[in-house]
Amino acid sequence: MKHYDVGIIGGGISGIMCAYELVKNRPDLNICIFERGSSILNRSCPLTEDKAKKCVKCPTCAIMEGFGGCGSFSDGKYNFTTEFGGWLNEYISSDKVMNLIEYMDLILVDFGATTQRFSTRTPKARELRKLAMQNDLHLLQAEVKHLGTENNLKIMTNLFNHLKDKVDVRHHTEIKDISFENSKYILDTAKEQFSSDYLIGAVGRVGSEWFTEQCKKLKINLTNNQIDLGVRVELPYEIFSHITDEVYEAKLHYHTQKYNDLVKTFCMNPRGHVVTENTIGVMTVNGHSYSDESLKSDNTNFALLVSNKFTSPFNEPIKYGKYIATLSNMLGDGVIVQRFGDLIKGRRTNEKRMKKSFTIPTLQSANAGDLGLALPKRYLDNIIEMLYSLDNIARGTANYDTLLYGVEVKFYSARPELDEKLETKYPNFYAIGDGAGITRSLSQAAASGIYVARNILEKL
Ligand SMILES: Cc1cc2nc3c(=O)[nH]c(=O)nc-3n(C[C@H](O)[C@H](O)[C@H](O)COP(=O)(O)OP(=O)(O)OC[C@H]3O[C@@H](n4cnc5c(N)ncnc54)[C@H](O)[C@@H]3O)c2cc1C
Repeated sequence: MKHYDVGIIGGGISGIMCAYELVKNRPDLNICIFERGSSILNRSCPLTEDKAKKCVKCPTCAIMEGFGGCGSFSDGKYNFTTEFGGWLNEYISSDKVMNLIEYMDLILVDFGATTQRFSTRTPKARELRKLAMQNDLHLLQAEVKHLGTENNLKIMTNLFNHLKDKVDVRHHTEIKDISFENSKYILDTAKEQFSSDYLIGAVGRVGSEWFTEQCKKLKINLTNNQIDLGVRVELPYEIFSHITDEVYEAKLHYHTQKYNDLVKTFCMNPRGHVVTENTIGVMTVNGHSYSDESLKSDNTNFALLVSNKFTSPFNEPIKYGKYIATLSNMLGDGVIVQRFGDLIKGRRTNEKRMKKSFTIPTLQSANAGDLGLALPKRYLDNIIEMLYSLDNIARGTANYDTLLYGVEVKFYSARPELDEKLETKYPNFYAIGDGAGITRSLSQAAASGIYVARNILEKL
């Protein structure tokens, strides 16, 4: 059985940053990243090669899994804030989280990231904030950096090249079982066994169901009862340009009058592309944008998500989200796209109606359909009310040809009980990133990895 000083399950940004910080300070350490997906050098999704093809359900999804994690094909919007993107400030002070994010940024710049940032604190952005507030919409404060899909991938590749001789990176190695024996962690892949003194769970949302089961087995307490569900909106770039040109990504929050539910814009991609992804077995939507002018589209896309926290006795938010996504997949044979005007009229968008649309969908593989049959009424009402509200600050948002793709689901991973060092009740066993339910963004996931590396270095 091969033994390591530190075993990291998951090669996403949290696991990578953790390994980076450890080897930087202790090059003598024997560290392994166990990653069930492929190397960054040969991750490729059949869908991105031919946009019209359907998902072929690869054994591991190249978009979500592999070195770099699910962030590799994202456009790398790194947010400098603790207002959203995770809950690390429930464990560490906000100042400390911001210091960790700034430190992570220095690493990214070293590996090729831009130094340009967008901010919500400029005079023009303040005017936008005022306009939003006058319409009961609330623009969250943040600085954001946009690396661009193509650059993000290059930076992850540079990080891989830096780490590959210093850390054992085992691709196509899925850890199936964790046990604790004689003060060591035993990691089982069903074919091989490994052991380690320190163990870090960095499994991302894609591994969170499995990690939850492992925590239950190890009798680590868990909490989770939340889900964000909605659609991805796509409209001509010009409609939001006065906002996106200034702040790049506007995080707008709104409480609907009908239900007082929170609806928010999320992951805004000016002149971007809508994409489909396989989220724990169901086809959902997402978006990204390139920084290269020649790769930009004419549309802007963003998610509109309704946040729902379930109350007792229901405690299966992931199953609930999967169920709705499955229903939508069943109706649309994958992702559905519908014109807003058709949704309001209560009729399906079919291919003929879609052809009339002035807004051309960037996700060509989506099938025209009826989201009204897939989304529960409360979600639909909330989304419709939010679109009309956004129309007050970006005229044209509620146009007939605004496209709605469904469904977009953001699962919250169950959160294992962790102390302020992000350590479980087991000695030297930590959990970081989105899979631990404590972060929901590249910046905070990375910050949690650096933080745990420093805690381990301190112990060592
Ligand atoms: C299309 C897309 C666009 C996004 N855009 C942005 C953005 O612009 N800005 C932003 O802040 N966030 C964005 N996000 C979210 C962001 O990518 C995540 O918050 C971030 O990647 C979380 O990092 P992580 O290390 O916690 O997990 P992940 O990046 O998910 O990495 C976890 C890794 O663990 C591996 N793994 C899981 N279980 C096992 C196991 N049992 N054995 C071995 N390996 C395992 C997985 O294969 C995966 O590679 C986007 C996400 C997607 C999907």
